[in-house]
Amino acid sequence: MSNAYDIVVVGGGHNGLTCAAYLAKAGRRVLVVEASDRLGGAAANREFAPGVTGPGCAHILHQLHPAVRKQLKLKKHDLKLAARQLPTVSLGEDGRHLVLTGQRIDGLDETGDAQAWPKLHRRLKRMARALHPSLSQMPPRLGGSDWRDRLAFAKLGLRLRFLGKTDMREFLRIVNMNVFDLLNDELTDERLKGALAFDAVLGSNFGPRSPGSVLTWLYRLAGDIGNNDGLTIPQGGMGAVTEALANAAQSFGVEIRTGAPVRRILVEEDHARGVELESGETITAGMVVSNADPKRTFQSLVGPAHLDTGFMRRLRGFRTNGLAAKLNLVLEGVPEFTGLDMAKLGGRLILAPDMGYLERAFDHSKYGEYSAAPALEITIPSLHDGSLASAGRNVMSVVVQYAPYELKGGWDANREAFADHVIKTIAALAPGLPRQVVAREMLAPPDLEREFGMTGGHWHHGDLAVDQMLMLRPVPGFAQYASPVPGLYLCGAGTHPGGGVTGTAGMNAARRILAVEAKP
Ligand SMILES: Cc1cc2nc3c(=O)[nH]c(=O)nc-3n(C[C@H](O)[C@H](O)[C@H](O)COP(=O)(O)OP(=O)(O)OC[C@H]3O[C@@H](n4cnc5c(N)ncnc54)[C@H](O)[C@@H]3O)c2cc1C
Repeated sequence: MSNAYDIVVVGGGHNGLTCAAYLAKAGRRVLVVEASDRLGGAAANREFAPGVTGPGCAHILHQLHPAVRKQLKLKKHDLKLAARQLPTVSLGEDGRHLVLTGQRIDGLDETGDAQAWPKLHRRLKRMARALHPSLSQMPPRLGGSDWRDRLAFAKLGLRLRFLGKTDMREFLRIVNMNVFDLLNDELTDERLKGALAFDAVLGSNFGPRSPGSVLTWLYRLAGDIGNNDGLTIPQGGMGAVTEALANAAQSFGVEIRTGAPVRRILVEEDHARGVELESGETITAGMVVSNADPKRTFQSLVGPAHLDTGFMRRLRGFRTNGLAAKLNLVLEGVPEFTGLDMAKLGGRLILAPDMGYLERAFDHSKYGEYSAAPALEITIPSLHDGSLASAGRNVMSVVVQYAPYELKGGWDANREAFADHVIKTIAALAPGLPRQVVAREMLAPPDLEREFGMTGGHWHHGDLAVDQMLMLRPVPGFAQYASPVPGLYLCGAGTHPGGGVTGTAGMNAARRILAVEAKP
């Protein structure tokens, strides 16, 4: 029997669409099947009140890989930016805010950091530049005898060596440090250190004192390399990025079906042969690529019957419990924050006024509690893009850390109290805010899991930590987008280099498939 498609991609998140587009561009017949009625997964728009659309999860675009943007011609497919070079505003609890745009800082009390931060920033950028190429390369196998694995290690080593003796030594000194110690060594302003440390722990299971938080910060900085627009808000919301990717994929011949949840990945004679949908329909294909997270893919869609116990044990150890929640608000009018003019209000507002605040916010999560004083990342995308809300209203998008997946007392009993708590926290800086809220939606990690199909509701589909990175992601032995089932590949955030709206995992997976699988 001939296959209906060469490849079926399970999941139309932005990585699934990217992967499908590259595969079809190379001449493969590709079908994408997405469970939800909308494409984009965690990078989609969401109508959370009548007539109001906002970013379901992701709200800031800053790491879309330049190759994806260029090779898939996303500009031609209507990807536009409503705002670029957004400043980061570190909210001071007393209304004395600090504004950070790249190396530039406005609002410092003392002059020391005005010199120290650009110096530190340049040094970290040099290190990030050395790491950057590894993001879009297949992680080499540990101890592999293949010349390509050895070459990849050698290239990384050389890039670090070319940093020069001073920077290379410094890299080796700081890479396993925590960001709390590093920033205390280098800087003095608490608001500056708080905002920088926030970047190091955003979307992770870390507080600033957690070992490895410098590495996650460097990783984030590496993802920003090659993007000249800084922090951006896409015109039409994050869903517009997904739409551009879907249009690009379709222009290469990809077929897309939404509202088509996959029940099972079909494995016959130890080879992936297609999928069975929840509706009972069977779709045959020469190969399957999964954009669903690794646990969902193997534990639910493939099933243990086709996998050895060693692999299943390693997969069980892949940590997937998310700690970030999302609060979407519809506001009547424009919120007024003490000390913020409109230019700053349109920026990325961070509430992490010092590193101790951030660490204490993290502490609660270790005991199954949400933060007494949560750390926040706030944007108001409708200030840049009027299409998101009806006249006079605004959308406020808030990423909230920390909200444990397993909350004492359960989320059903505490979700609304948590939303009240976050609104009250913001109201300390914007006293009129509670009266402006006309609709709200709090998505705790279990809600993100349910709504977006991500196990644990995790930003990266699984912790991004030194034991789950690079050649160890998602599990040792299967870090190169392949799986123990021949003909089954992964392409989502659970693979290298992790999450964020980057398209990198999708692009890397497609390259790997095209390199090893002959055209049928
Ligand atoms: C609260 C929050 C805020 C964030 N903010 C940002 C941000 O501002 N900027 C940023 O860059 N990143 C942000 N991120 C991270 C980013 O959104 C994700 O890492 C990224 O979108 C993951 O993309 P993906 O395509 O790999 O996976 P996903 O987006 O998870 O897509 C997977 C797709 O597979 C589908 N699927 C799953 N199971 C099945 C099945 N059985 N059948 C068919 N389809 C299936 C799902 O429905 C989904 O569409 C945020 C994440 C969270 C949780």
